[in-house]
Amino acid sequence: MGVAIGLDLGGTKCLGLAVGEDGEVLAERKVPTPTEGGAALLDALATVAAEVAEAAEAEPASVGVGAPGLVDAAGVLQAAPNLAQGAGLPIGAGLAERLGVPVQVDNDVTCAAFGEWVGGAASGVDDVLLVALGTGIGGGLVVGGRLVRGAHGYAGEIGHMVVDPHGPPCPCGQRGCWERFASGGGLGRLAREAAMAGLAPGVVALAGGDSEAVRGEHVTDAAEQGDPGARAILDDFAWWLALGLANLTNIFDPDRIVLGGGLVEDSALWIDATRRSFAGRTVGAASRPEVPIVPAALGVRAGAVGAALLGRERLRR
Ligand SMILES: [Zn+2]
Repeated sequence: MGVAIGLDLGGTKCLGLAVGEDGEVLAERKVPTPTEGGAALLDALATVAAEVAEAAEAEPASVGVGAPGLVDAAGVLQAAPNLAQGAGLPIGAGLAERLGVPVQVDNDVTCAAFGEWVGGAASGVDDVLLVALGTGIGGGLVVGGRLVRGAHGYAGEIGHMVVDPHGPPCPCGQRGCWERFASGGGLGRLAREAAMAGLAPGVVALAGGDSEAVRGEHVTDAAEQGDPGARAILDDFAWWLALGLANLTNIFDPDRIVLGGGLVEDSALWIDATRRSFAGRTVGAASRPEVPIVPAALGVRAGAVGAALLGRERLRR
């Protein structure tokens, strides 16, 4: 019997999973993302898919891929800010040719949202906002019981919602995008601003005394030791995070907001501050149900699990 394969293509690593009927992980493999070019990338993905299927003692029946960027309906990665060798790559066609099975390609955070919705922190509800906090911010949406891809496959780029038109420049070309404030990169930037203003001596000490070397992990490390300067930076970060979540809640009215991505490992340090800052910010807040803000449940596997489930869905269509 065939097995569903999910591949999560990242800027530095590629994770492959073989996923069973109930979404359980049967086999896992992780390899570095090749940098040589598009053909090498497709070869590596095909190899990982074949290897995890073999480890699960099955043939691949379908393949789903989560890719970091704008993926069109034909499975072409049209833009990939963090994967230069993947831009313009026909992932769907290239893998279908190599593996001889149906291949579904989506944005990686769209896949993660699907995974969390089917079998993670958002199961059982019809309207979900997944916010992936990494170097930047990615988004995945389930609206009215349907995964939202948009007219061209490009929905969910919530990190580039402008929250301050006079704010810091973003690599996308705009100024003051939400991810300049509320991502891992944004936390580091807020921390360096505080450090240079002399407001975070405990954080600067952890960065070797150099304000410009301050990163997000110095803030979380200092906050764990009870440093008040670090606490203030995390409250500022939570304020910006809540601002965007309130904007998105006004638009989509979700049942639940799921926070994913690497930053969520430290969410105990800032999730309550985010909830406090969020409360009262949506329109008519006193008259609407509370929207739970919860950490993701599937961790680093969310994208690959969701991709596998989307690949299987394509096979069944
Ligand atoms: Zn931007």
